[in-house]
Amino acid sequence: MPQVSRRTAALGTENAFVVLAEVSELVRQGKDVISFCIGQPDFPTPANIQDAAVRAIREGRHGYTPSAGIPELREAAARYMGAMRGLAIDPEHVVVGAGAKPFIAYAILATTDYGAGDEVVYPVPGFPIYESQIRAHGAVPVPLHLRESRDFAFDPAELEAKITPRTRLVILNSPQNPTGGILRRADLEAIAAILARHPDVWVYADEIYSRLAYAEPFASIASLPGMYERTIISDGASKTWAMTGWRIGFAANPLLAPAFTRWVTNTDSCASQPSQWAAVEAIRGPQDAAEAMRRSFVERRDLIVGLLNEVPGVACRTPGGAFYAWPNVTEACRMIGAADSEEFRRRLLNEAGVAVLADVHFGSRVPGEGQHVRFSYAASPEAIEAGVARMADFIRKNARRVA
Ligand code: PMP
Repeated sequence: MPQVSRRTAALGTENAFVVLAEVSELVRQGKDVISFCIGQPDFPTPANIQDAAVRAIREGRHGYTPSAGIPELREAAARYMGAMRGLAIDPEHVVVGAGAKPFIAYAILATTDYGAGDEVVYPVPGFPIYESQIRAHGAVPVPLHLRESRDFAFDPAELEAKITPRTRLVILNSPQNPTGGILRRADLEAIAAILARHPDVWVYADEIYSRLAYAEPFASIASLPGMYERTIISDGASKTWAMTGWRIGFAANPLLAPAFTRWVTNTDSCASQPSQWAAVEAIRGPQDAAEAMRRSFVERRDLIVGLLNEVPGVACRTPGGAFYAWPNVTEACRMIGAADSEEFRRRLLNEAGVAVLADVHFGSRVPGEGQHVRFSYAASPEAIEAGVARMADFIRKNARRVA
């Protein structure tokens, strides 16, 4: 029998999809489930953007495009990313991809060699694709722990301790999935000062949630002196304009853009042409819908954090961005006799009909930081109120039984 390769057999995944399958099965059985699992805006793509895609199709713009993307989108994305970061980005240094996600792999492929011991530092808890792609491409994953006491930023001193002569790439993500943490300007300055002592290390700045920073104005590591040349800026259309299924992301770096283009030629050929025209309209057109979505996320953040902090055994920091809350449920686990956040999550789903993700879906649990679950609050205020009320009832009921 032909066999599946070891690297594919060992390939990681986004466990959100595993939980989604559990939720779908419960819903199929007729159970009433309130879900906070999905990491995407719960809004339709704004109509002007939809119309631009329809127009592109009707005008016959549906063939292959250059692998780096249509010039109009590269120009628009260069101006857009540059304006947000105070940089003059050359459109030649921008590559369009089928979402921001592929650039995670391209960046690892472009900066490390398979099996050479090249190390990649990445945030934990973090987007699980970082670790799975680092491993799949034969590099060495080096987790950098986020700290609740720092509102889920890492301590720059811990970053410095993780950098070795083998470090090739440091992955940063701000605003962050799954904690909603952000890298504040003071932290970015400390990080840049450390990296200045390690001039051969690349940075991957995953800034897909750049328009959803609330605690401070969005700040990018790429804006700091000497950083743009060595930073891969990754941003895209998915979160800002509710375009997850359109699959448009863009990355910028002067040296690596040709390498990314070659990778796109080797994988997707190009991003979908109608989606590229839609993204041009998203960037250049009116921003009212994007701003309204942002305002709505801030309101829902305040709602869910307030409610979670009233739940027995739960403590939730106010996330600085994105649309995730990352409550600490260590005490709630103890109260109901759950061994850990994963058992808590499973029981919350099966006994109370509330679907969330557990910290272990975002990397190994950070020692000493307790148990956490992730709520995506891209859900209606009614769902947020009902879901958190169910969670509170669930804890109260089960705490009595254990006591
Ligand atoms: N990075 C992070 C941190 C994300 O959360 C996501 C989406 N969940 C992505 C990248 C991928 O975004 P896209 O849909 O543009 O591929």
